[in-house]
Amino acid sequence: MGGRLAGKTALITSAAQGIGRATVLAMVAEGAKVIATDINMAALEALAKESPAISIHKLDVTKQAEIDALAAKVDAPDVLFNCSGYVHAGTILDVVDKDWDFAFELNVRAHYRMMRAFTPRWLERGSASVINMASLASSVKGVPNRFLYGTSKAAVIGMTKAMAADYLAKGIRVNAICPGTVDTPSLHDRMRATGDYEAAHKAFVARQPMGRLGRAEEIAALVVYLASDESAFITGQAINIDGGWSV
Ligand code: NAD
Repeated sequence: MGGRLAGKTALITSAAQGIGRATVLAMVAEGAKVIATDINMAALEALAKESPAISIHKLDVTKQAEIDALAAKVDAPDVLFNCSGYVHAGTILDVVDKDWDFAFELNVRAHYRMMRAFTPRWLERGSASVINMASLASSVKGVPNRFLYGTSKAAVIGMTKAMAADYLAKGIRVNAICPGTVDTPSLHDRMRATGDYEAAHKAFVARQPMGRLGRAEEIAALVVYLASDESAFITGQAINIDGGWSV
């Protein structure tokens, strides 16, 4: 099968819904074999029915033992898309230590653990492309009521640049992506959690200058590009894909 990712294997975390799921399908359409991982096995099983090129594994990225077990089972992927992350709403006054720890476990430490699990084998092979999910709400833009989320996503950008710098000449490319507001299941959960879904929907759309939310498929297309050899000259970048929110 042809395609921009023909012959490549990709591993994706938090792949059962939203941007992760859309990326699994986009990568398969470009000829990749995809290992889709998540904690939601029911959703992964439904996803696996979409293509024989998708294999699924339960993986809680906050558990080192589960990462070790998966890494021992699979070859080092050509592409790693670290997609996990959770949005805590609120200012600094809303944060308790438990939330701080959870945000950094899922949004930052998970990406570090996944990269670390495969780096020795990537170095032996001399090639890999890693895409780390950050957000526009990060060191790129201060967003109200996203104190903890923005802090954790800024760390993802720092980690991405540090990792890219270490392996510039060793064939391992590492980039981060910074989406604006994207229409995904968890976004609708966040709208419902405000208690006024309609008003929240309006507010989320209003902060996007194009007057619409991003689509998961639009983000997936960028991930495919960064995964492919077309982007071979790009590393250490945090790329905004935000419908002009940062302009
Ligand atoms: P989502 O939040 O709707 O889905 C998240 C997925 O993560 C679910 O399938 C869930 O089962 C899985 N998950 C939860 N805990 C996990 C764990 N411990 N281990 C592994 N998987 C776990 O998806 P989304 O909205 O597409 O967000 C995906 C990523 O994109 C996140 O990192 C998020 O911060 C980032 N992002 C989203 C938006 C947006 O507006 N949706 C914008 C910028 C960045």
